[in-house]
Amino acid sequence: MSDLRNVIIVGSGPAGLTAAIYAGRANLSPLIVAGSQPGGQLTLTSEVENYPGFAEPVLGPELMDVMRGQAERFGTEFVDDDVVGVDLSSRPFEVKTAERTWRARALIVATGASARLLGLESERRLLGRGLSTCATCDGFFFKGQELVVVGGGDSAMEEATFLTRFADKVYVIHRKDSLRASKAMQDRAFNDPKIEFLWNKEVAHIYGDDLVSGIGLIDTVDGTESTKDLSGLFIAIGADPRTHLVHGQLELTDLGTIAVDGRSSRTKLPGVFAAGDVIDPHYRQAVTAAASGTVAALDAEQYLAALDQVEESSRVDLAAALADEVDDLVAAD
Ligand code: NDP
Repeated sequence: MSDLRNVIIVGSGPAGLTAAIYAGRANLSPLIVAGSQPGGQLTLTSEVENYPGFAEPVLGPELMDVMRGQAERFGTEFVDDDVVGVDLSSRPFEVKTAERTWRARALIVATGASARLLGLESERRLLGRGLSTCATCDGFFFKGQELVVVGGGDSAMEEATFLTRFADKVYVIHRKDSLRASKAMQDRAFNDPKIEFLWNKEVAHIYGDDLVSGIGLIDTVDGTESTKDLSGLFIAIGADPRTHLVHGQLELTDLGTIAVDGRSSRTKLPGVFAAGDVIDPHYRQAVTAAASGTVAALDAEQYLAALDQVEESSRVDLAAALADEVDDLVAAD
């Protein structure tokens, strides 16, 4: 099969998969390079309660499987590998994995976002050694222990609530005295007897050589310092857009997301579209990402139709020019 595709989608979260469903239904035979963690961030969550169409909670990974099946039904081809580079300087665009290079007439970047860390020196070293950014992945290892979750948004509330299944006690440490999380998620955490809040505290140190053993805290109001022993620390302080593949090739916003034109998915480079958390610093919901993927597929479809017309008329112009040249040669004989 040719390596040239109408549309290649990078990323397989709700944005990428929904873009694939729409592009597939438009007969564009999309190729998704799904990444080595197909399904994106939702595969790291537990129950999803707010995705329309599911009266009962659905597991994140299950939701992504259903979306993938739907995309496959409309002819999407999946490559479960990471993109290692894209070249947007030539047309068709190039999309490379370790194994292969594809060319795309249109590209949809739906690379999502990845968990933010605190920026402490010990953090990278202790990741996976008592320090985690994913309760559903790692909570099981902390049965009967005391854990700490850092953050004040929906992710922190979700992680804390989930961890009470395993832990005896979960402390939520937040740098302010009020939460950013939605009322429903706050209430659930406040009403959980296993969860206790430590307000106005920032994590200044993470202690431990091979495994996390404790944290050093600073009170954000009066500056007092304290320490806390623990065996598991979960950081849930938001996510950063994953733009590394297009750095220097596409314009970014001040917030680090890919810049798009208004409510569209059009980047500054014609033929390159972006969707989902990689363009959205505010809402970052599965359903808003899915909607954004829809927009990208429709924009790409419109772009490809226009490109077909340009290519067709330049073929006609070329054929006419060649015919004129042949006429001239015949006349000269
Ligand atoms: P948010 O950006 O909403 O919240 C991040 C939290 O972490 C804030 O409380 C912030 O504090 C705190 N924080 C950020 N940086 C630091 C730092 N360096 N040190 C200490 N604390 C820090 O991110 P979330 O991941 O919680 O949520 C992202 C989006 O995903 C939201 O739209 C949310 O609604 C959605 N979501 C929805 C879920 C659901 O509905 N099931 C589940 C999870 C997420 P401060 O408040 O002071 O800025």
